[in-house]
Amino acid sequence: MEQQKLKVAMVSLTSCEGCYFSLLDLGNEFLEIADKIDLVKFRLLEEKEHSEIEKYDIVFVEGSPILKSNFDELIDLRLRTKKLIVLGGCAHTGGTYAMRNHTDKKKACKYVYPKTNKKVFNPNILELSKIVKIDGVIPTCPINPREFVRFMSFVLNSLSFRIIERPVCYECQLAQTPCLLKMGLPCFGPMALGGCDAPCPKAGMPCQICRGPMKEVQWENFEKKIKNIIGDEKWEKDFNEILEIFNIKNKIIKSKE
Ligand code: SF4
Ligand code: SF4
Ligand code: SF4
Repeated sequence: MEQQKLKVAMVSLTSCEGCYFSLLDLGNEFLEIADKIDLVKFRLLEEKEHSEIEKYDIVFVEGSPILKSNFDELIDLRLRTKKLIVLGGCAHTGGTYAMRNHTDKKKACKYVYPKTNKKVFNPNILELSKIVKIDGVIPTCPINPREFVRFMSFVLNSLSFRIIERPVCYECQLAQTPCLLKMGLPCFGPMALGGCDAPCPKAGMPCQICRGPMKEVQWENFEKKIKNIIGDEKWEKDFNEILEIFNIKNKIIKSKE
């Protein structure tokens, strides 16, 4: 008897949909994966008819909960799926939206919506794991489609997927990329979880930890060492602000408590 295909949904909350577009860049390779599963929900492809009470085996969620409807959808999906996989930096860390957490949100809302601000839902940006139970993460902004292929080959062979804990510097040095940090640029590669193949330093851009930090990072030591090299002022100006982008600053504050 033919084995039943996994029922999979690919859902976006508030996002740029860049992670899903990067999957389409896989071309036929993505279609081959789609053929091995029952892809019942993916708005970038034609959707199959499905009932509203559909149960899923795997739901991938991209984006951040910003609207009230995003929260409702996320909670509903959690109830209807066996596994919920977080896809991309927004869902994993709060992504670029997380910068809102470091602004006066009430004031900003009043400025943008002078008349209706009191009715505007204006939440803190949370990583999805703070709202619902998650079963896995494919990080990065946008995701590396090769990592998605690897994830799916593990899942389709009933194996568990894991990302090796090593810093972005590891891949950067393998590629013999000149070190930006040594040039005084705000590169967080030593703290960032590798696996992306270090595309940013290769392109001359410092790593901003879009894959999130490694588990056992020594923030205080890193901060001390960098401040010794570049001074407190440059740290505040060039380094510290970057940590707001993927919600890393809050993690550092917590690790110091
Ligand atoms: S992680 Fe990046 S590419 Fe993916 S949805 Fe968020 S902003 Fe877009
Ligand atoms: S450029 Fe950045 S990622 Fe590359 S080795 Fe230097 S600190 Fe590490
Ligand atoms: S180098 Fe850093 S910012 Fe660039 S993709 Fe990798 S983790 Fe993200």
